[in-house]
Amino acid sequence: MGNYVYCCRECGRTYGRDEVRYLCPDCGPRYRPGQPLVGVLEAVFDYKLIAKRFDKSKPEWRLFSAVEPKYYPNFPVGGTPFFKVERLGREVGLKNLWIKNDGLNPSGSLKDRASFLVVAEANRIGDKQIVTASTGNAASALAAVCAAAGKKAIIFVPKNAPKAKLVQILLYGAKVILVDGTYDDAFKLSLEYTEKRGGLNRNTAYHPLTIEGKKTVALEIWAQNDFKAPDAVVVPVGDGVIISGVYKGFWDLKQAGLIKQIPRLACVQAKTSDAIHKYIMTGKYRNAVKPSTTADSISVSAPSNAHMARRAVLDSKGFSLTVSDREILAAQALVARTTGIFSEPAASAAAAGLVKISKANTLGKNAQIVLLVTGHGLKDIDTPLAGLKLPRPIQPILSAVKGT
Ligand SMILES: [Zn+2]
Repeated sequence: MGNYVYCCRECGRTYGRDEVRYLCPDCGPRYRPGQPLVGVLEAVFDYKLIAKRFDKSKPEWRLFSAVEPKYYPNFPVGGTPFFKVERLGREVGLKNLWIKNDGLNPSGSLKDRASFLVVAEANRIGDKQIVTASTGNAASALAAVCAAAGKKAIIFVPKNAPKAKLVQILLYGAKVILVDGTYDDAFKLSLEYTEKRGGLNRNTAYHPLTIEGKKTVALEIWAQNDFKAPDAVVVPVGDGVIISGVYKGFWDLKQAGLIKQIPRLACVQAKTSDAIHKYIMTGKYRNAVKPSTTADSISVSAPSNAHMARRAVLDSKGFSLTVSDREILAAQALVARTTGIFSEPAASAAAAGLVKISKANTLGKNAQIVLLVTGHGLKDIDTPLAGLKLPRPIQPILSAVKGT
């Protein structure tokens, strides 16, 4: 409702919502392309007002929204299913395991939440063109919301983005610039583009409302969980914005006195794309040398929101771990055959982490754990297809049906 200011956690300065657009004006200039962003802003609300006005029997979610609902695009996102998964829980040895299935957002990923709020902001300030760099999901999310809102989306994607994501983006009518380079290269190029040619930049974390959009997944988990915070949330981590958003949602709730404790956040990264993991473990930041995971959505050398993600994990008394591509693909199949949910490889990294967490008994067997499914499996069928053996056709006669 506009009852917030932007705060830079690095220097502590605060700014009015229309005083700044992207990074902290003081810290932001220290950002160097190819490194994590510096001076990422956080929306800090009037929590006393929320505490006074928020009523669980008639939740007014707009109290937590950084953009007024009258600017929202007519494109419902979120409201995704949250439910207990007993078969998967039994399989991995956890008694109170739940899934938040954000693969069921309109474009098939959690990123719709961020794009939705940035497009709402574009409506508020009257920008018609929105630009982003993405490994694919943020791009398809932005393209989808822009299609619904009648805005122009300009998308920079690395050339190795899965075909299904490219097809989505193109069908939604966005302008696609395929970059012969990595996600990090696309990120840098898109910043140059908006600086020189204009448009609102939706790059994740660079625009602070991407984090605000993503926080709604935490608010929903809380509400769907009977207005209780779970013990832990397991999150797949690439550039660190989703985990920062999950943290921010629970942090807002805590500031408003609506929960006592922020759930422990488990940060799961792919082994070759582990810059945030190493940062958490050692306290020293270094880019991942050569990210080469098949989980394309979390493949990044210099995670844009590394600093905030590390703080989210440490402040929540969480922890971090890495998983191999083999573990990711095994977890993808495990989740599919025990829950009916087909999650993309990046989302399956969280499930692979969950298997390890249970084996190590990190959270105990009875803790309420939420596995965050961030993207739909149909976004990338080539990766699991490589490990599957397709059946050969038979003659349409019963005697040819063997083995059942
Ligand atoms: Zn600052």
